Amino acid sequence: MESSQIVIEADGLVKTYGAFQAVKGVHFQVYQGEVFGLLGPNGAGKTTTMEMIEGLRKPDGGHARVAGYDTQKDLVKVKEVIGVQLQSTSLFELLTVKEIMEMYASFYPNPLPVDPILEDMTLTDKRNGRVKHLSGGQKQRLAIGLALVNDPKVIFLDEPTTGLDPTARRTLWDIILKLKERGKTIVLSTHYMEEAHVLCDRICLMDQGQVVALDTPRNLVLSLQSDSAIEFRVGGLDERPEEYKENLLRELHEVREVKRVDVRRDVIVLYTDKLQTSLTDLIEKSSGGKLELADLQTRTATLEDVFISMTGRSLNEE
Ligand code: ATP
Repeated sequence: MESSQIVIEADGLVKTYGAFQAVKGVHFQVYQGEVFGLLGPNGAGKTTTMEMIEGLRKPDGGHARVAGYDTQKDLVKVKEVIGVQLQSTSLFELLTVKEIMEMYASFYPNPLPVDPILEDMTLTDKRNGRVKHLSGGQKQRLAIGLALVNDPKVIFLDEPTTGLDPTARRTLWDIILKLKERGKTIVLSTHYMEEAHVLCDRICLMDQGQVVALDTPRNLVLSLQSDSAIEFRVGGLDERPEEYKENLLRELHEVREVKRVDVRRDVIVLYTDKLQTSLTDLIEKSSGGKLELADLQTRTATLEDVFISMTGRSLNEE
């Protein structure tokens, strides 16, 4: 894989809706052949950022280039090299799978043959079925198939697995990884951290219109400087006086080898890379009924923890 060639450049992208700035100066570069993830909660600005890069929305500031073409000045050229997965809700429900593929193919001067794409999307047995009879996962695969008919260099997938059951999600993951194997560059937005972890070479964490971190999944988790999390609940913590909470936090910071303490409502998370030492000390400190550790569990630190440590919020918070 040629990894150093830049295929996409987002250079200070800004988008404003009325008085609201939805995207606040986003910079990043995407390399040839990588799966690049935009990971962030609802409203983070992922779709808006993608659509400015695709040339579908006009930025109010900054520039985007795809394969060296400016998405504002050279939109025709940009369209030749990109494939955009449509939201499956906008597919023509009454056409058959093959008909809709052929219709899309007719929009391009040199389309790929339709049948192999249907095969890759595991839709061959559905080719004569109407779109309206497809399941959610099949519709999403069809939407990706449609994005492939012009043999694009770069594929944009906006939350491709939202609303799908785990099996349908994994089928899509396999398809995305196969596209990557064939050298396609893929930009994918998601608010599922597991999906980003499994699929993406690099992840751009977005929140409130800004990039809060950009690195490989591994480096993002390493940035926490702790590979484990100890999580427990302190019932009624929200209602306790401030002084109680302050004392508790001070004590938890003193637990051996704990690098960081996060409080989310009544759930406390301690981060450490010496799990056994920290856990033993925590249990000792809490003995004698001073602190009841409800629902105590230990786990490996995740991208969700990275996001919380950087923004104070969860990825899937409403
Ligand atoms: P989601 O997962 O919900 O799609 P997202 O990260 O893709 O989230 P965007 O869809 O880019 O976020 O939206 C970013 C912000 O801009 C949100 O607060 C959204 O309400 C707002 N927004 C998006 N499109 C418009 C529009 N056409 N007019 C006004 N506000 C908009």
